[in-house]
Amino acid sequence: MSTVQAIRGTRDILPEEVKYWQQVEAVSREVLGRAAYQEIRTPTFEQTELFERGVGEATDIVSKEMYTFRDRGDRSLTLRPEGTAGVVRAYIEHHLHAQGGVQRLWYLGPMFRYERPQAGRQRQFHQVGVEVLGSADPRADAEVIAIASDLLTELGLKNLRLEFNSIGDQSDRQQYREALIHYLTPHKADLDADSQDRLTRNPLRILDSKDQKTQTILQDAPSILDFLSPDSQRRFEQVQQLLADLNIPFNINSRLVRGLDYYTHTVFEIQSDDLGSQATVCAGGRYDGLVSELGGPETSAVGWASGLERLILLLQQLQPPHPANLDFYLVSRGDRAEAQSMKLAQILRRLGFSVELDLSGSAFGKQFKRADRSGAIACLILGDAEAESETVQLKWLASGEQESLPQAELLTQAETLRHKLDALK
Ligand code: ATP
Ligand code: MG
Repeated sequence: MSTVQAIRGTRDILPEEVKYWQQVEAVSREVLGRAAYQEIRTPTFEQTELFERGVGEATDIVSKEMYTFRDRGDRSLTLRPEGTAGVVRAYIEHHLHAQGGVQRLWYLGPMFRYERPQAGRQRQFHQVGVEVLGSADPRADAEVIAIASDLLTELGLKNLRLEFNSIGDQSDRQQYREALIHYLTPHKADLDADSQDRLTRNPLRILDSKDQKTQTILQDAPSILDFLSPDSQRRFEQVQQLLADLNIPFNINSRLVRGLDYYTHTVFEIQSDDLGSQATVCAGGRYDGLVSELGGPETSAVGWASGLERLILLLQQLQPPHPANLDFYLVSRGDRAEAQSMKLAQILRRLGFSVELDLSGSAFGKQFKRADRSGAIACLILGDAEAESETVQLKWLASGEQESLPQAELLTQAETLRHKLDALK
């Protein structure tokens, strides 16, 4: 019979790899918590309209990447392709703006996009992201960038570059859009098919094209930076000054635009030299237009999202897989010994030790081999003789040193044992 396999573009994260995920999750929680960001969890699917309005119909995400379906009540629903729209919907729905001041939120979870799967690009992938709602202050832009930088540094990642740009406000962009269309129209026939399509719908996205010929044409294209109003220009300079004050190096990249329509002013990406073509590990910017676009009050906002699969690929290059973090492997044979070992395992666990109990009933030799492979620091051994005398053999696996002691002593000496185990970790 044929077996069922995971859907293309989705992956099982097996126990060995889960450790890296837990590390990224723990460091995220720690770094974001320290900066007073609060976690928010929104549903994995939403009304399709939320993304059409919030992400924008002309974007790749909405036009070709969404998992959209009708449910049994004939509603059009979509698996979330990104986190911001849902967070902003929740912000409006629960009147978080009415609490006044700035809301600092973060999220972590799966996102879904119908894309061509490759290393670092999946159809179900995961993002951790932050949103700061209710501040137009350039310090908010600098803060979110600084936090992204802290998170990546704390994970031990190296060879990262911060690419930074401003795409101005709506009116700067409108003028730039016209200039770009004006410049590109005579070259239309030489652009790649996607870019031809975008020329009127979403011309800024053409800057993102991976096509060689399109990129050559773009070399002489006008730069957004020549279209910033004096106010936008000042804002751009303020954020740069703040980054410099924080010792965060950046590279101004006037070609950097985001695929999402609601971005204004600051846009940035953090890229890695160690990931091949899927180089962007974190991307974000300011989106002052989104909250009102979704029916909320005019609200300034800035945030970013980072792809966990790409962070994990980098971590795996840096750190060998760690062995299991196990204190005791418990080996037993014979009816009485097996009954006692089961109880002993439970008692030790309640005292805070981690204990794996061998359930095989196989010969001692085989159980010892498994103990060696388990990654445990020590092995506890119970046979007929130990069961009779209510003792246990304690074997330190690294040195091979072995001692016999009363079972009760494991419990009364738990503190001393804890220190010994910790010293051997
Ligand atoms: P790309 O140009 O790589 O498609 P994007 O502009 O679509 O990126 P965003 O929507 O800004 O990406 O998402 C933020 C981050 O989420 C990306 O920088 C990347 O790290 C991660 N990401 C996006 N799409 C995927 C995917 N399909 N698989 C894995 N990670 C992804
Ligand atoms: Mg994409």
